[in-house]
Amino acid sequence: MAATILVIEDEPGIQEVLKFNLGQHGHDVLVATDADEANRLLQGALPDLILLDWMLPGMSGIDFARRLRADHRLKDIPIIMLTARSEERDKIQGLETGADDYITKPFSPRELMARIKAVLRRRAPQMTEDLVEIEGLRLDPVSHRVHGDQTPLELGPTEFRLLHFLMTHPERVYSRSQLLDQVWGDHVFVEERTVDVHIRRLRSALEPSGHDRLIQTVRGSGYRLSALPG
Ligand code: CA
Repeated sequence: MAATILVIEDEPGIQEVLKFNLGQHGHDVLVATDADEANRLLQGALPDLILLDWMLPGMSGIDFARRLRADHRLKDIPIIMLTARSEERDKIQGLETGADDYITKPFSPRELMARIKAVLRRRAPQMTEDLVEIEGLRLDPVSHRVHGDQTPLELGPTEFRLLHFLMTHPERVYSRSQLLDQVWGDHVFVEERTVDVHIRRLRSALEPSGHDRLIQTVRGSGYRLSALPG
């Protein structure tokens, strides 16, 4: 489960420890020392998760979390707050602001990794390597294989990512631009009709087992993966 993680932390020692440990676990790490620098980085890339220090110079971590949650483009990025405070009252404030979890310094790398994994599993299931299965359609992120009722199905890499995202977010409609953000990555200059092309390819890849029926077009809105009739 390799994710892009933005670390917002002003203490160089902790920055280093985080960078090292996250890197060891295969994550890509972006580092900012304050809210301004984080904002600049966020303009260019959407991380999969943010580790946010509570006590930052300038805007506090709490205020920054609040601002992220109010931003249409950034509101879905999972946040784990890092803090030296361990009081229950502070923890509640942190979670109310929109943080997904909270970790108190000093923390062990093992604990941090476990929490990152748990938050990603909850908030971004397409980042995990859990096998997903819907209506006899099985996708295995580890082996990168897809089977429809035991029949191996051949998918291109984009179709695989698209299917993985849709299978981990079933019964919800996604617009073309949401799918571009989620599957292609933000700030990639891809035209929206590209999504239609890959949906068409995905459907024909799923045809041998009849699972193309799961990929539904929602007129005027986008696409949905659903086990229910469209
Ligand atoms: Ca700090």
